[in-house]
Amino acid sequence: MSQTEVTRVKPALVPLGTLIGRELRSEKVDKPIIRYGQAALAKKGEDYFLIKPDCQRIPGDPSTSFSVFAIFDGHNGISAAIFAKENLLNNVLSAIPQGASRDEWLQALPRALVAGFVKTDIEFQQKGESSGTTVTFVVIDGWTVTVASVGDSRCILDTQGGIVSLLTVDHRLEENAEERERVTASGGEVGRLNVFGGNEVGPLRCWPGGLCLSRSIGDTDVGEFIVPVPHVKQVKLSDAGGRLIIASDGIWDALSSEAAAKACRGLPADLAAKLVVKEALRSRGLKDDTTCLVVDIIPSVHPLLPPSPTPRKKHNVLGSLFGKRSQNSSSKRLSAVGAVEELFEEGSAMLAERLGKDFPMNPDSGLFRCAICQVDQPPSDGLSVNSGPFFSPSSKPWEGPFLCANCRRKKDAMEGKRPSKPTISI
Ligand SMILES: [Zn+2]
Repeated sequence: MSQTEVTRVKPALVPLGTLIGRELRSEKVDKPIIRYGQAALAKKGEDYFLIKPDCQRIPGDPSTSFSVFAIFDGHNGISAAIFAKENLLNNVLSAIPQGASRDEWLQALPRALVAGFVKTDIEFQQKGESSGTTVTFVVIDGWTVTVASVGDSRCILDTQGGIVSLLTVDHRLEENAEERERVTASGGEVGRLNVFGGNEVGPLRCWPGGLCLSRSIGDTDVGEFIVPVPHVKQVKLSDAGGRLIIASDGIWDALSSEAAAKACRGLPADLAAKLVVKEALRSRGLKDDTTCLVVDIIPSVHPLLPPSPTPRKKHNVLGSLFGKRSQNSSSKRLSAVGAVEELFEEGSAMLAERLGKDFPMNPDSGLFRCAICQVDQPPSDGLSVNSGPFFSPSSKPWEGPFLCANCRRKKDAMEGKRPSKPTISI
């Protein structure tokens, strides 16, 4: 994609120029150090995780490094979790324009995550297997953390001063009224299990299929209204850094976000992950697969002080980051000043709202590139701005980007406009 197309990406909440200016002013040129740990206890053996601390935007250039951490909590088998673990990262990266600068790359990432998740789902469905998986996928580039998620494997952020924030949204039908409405509007039914005697038991599920989640990768036999479109949130940490805890629902059914963060403060990441799993086990027993990744984003040198007359202890970075809450009011003010900056958040399941409106043409071939699978196709074979009423008479014209015929079929099925069983036509 050209630079002009890159700039059409949905604007971040904070203008790039402002960020760059701030970066220069604060001389925040050093990348943080990433430390991580992982712990797990298996009950069914359907949890998988991915740790890639040494990815590079430009292969061979270590200054372009970024890290990826992900959890895949499979259900009805393990194949969707394994497939997503093996393919999702590449599918996301292939949706980012070649030659993008670091800032362009970060701005394009939320949209590329949507494309990569949907592409991975389409490819998995073509295998004809029925399992599904949650995905919580975290990309860390410098101080910028981007999290994309479907399902209920949560990612929390613990920052200086003991502020715990949730970077994901739980796609559980029981807890998410908006998702219940969407599933129902797209042709699914939402209700509880009926046992003998007509009593309803257990959490809200969607039918057919009986899945408790409203979004996932896979689940071919449940219905296309279980969409793979992720909630995406992008934040920029202050130069004090922070700790991410990414875990499957085996942890979150046992511990609140605050309890998990609190349980492991002050410990290095590897011990912290073990302790969170142990805490979950202690409070609830081993009822489900339980997987936890702890990722610390730590200043590589002594943290630069935010504008404040209050000195901050520098000799123990970990201790000051993840130790107890600040003891005095001036420190509390410091943590408020250094709060996390929200750059982007979007959770809509509608692809038209998530993929921009580009119709990027390959100047060499005269072909359009599909915004999901990145395959070049002639315009007549794909979805154009004028084709909406033709394909779905009841709805307004398509306002999203160019999609190939296969991805267009997927989009219509997700929105309940076509039978959900995929037909393969590549
Ligand atoms: Zn496509």
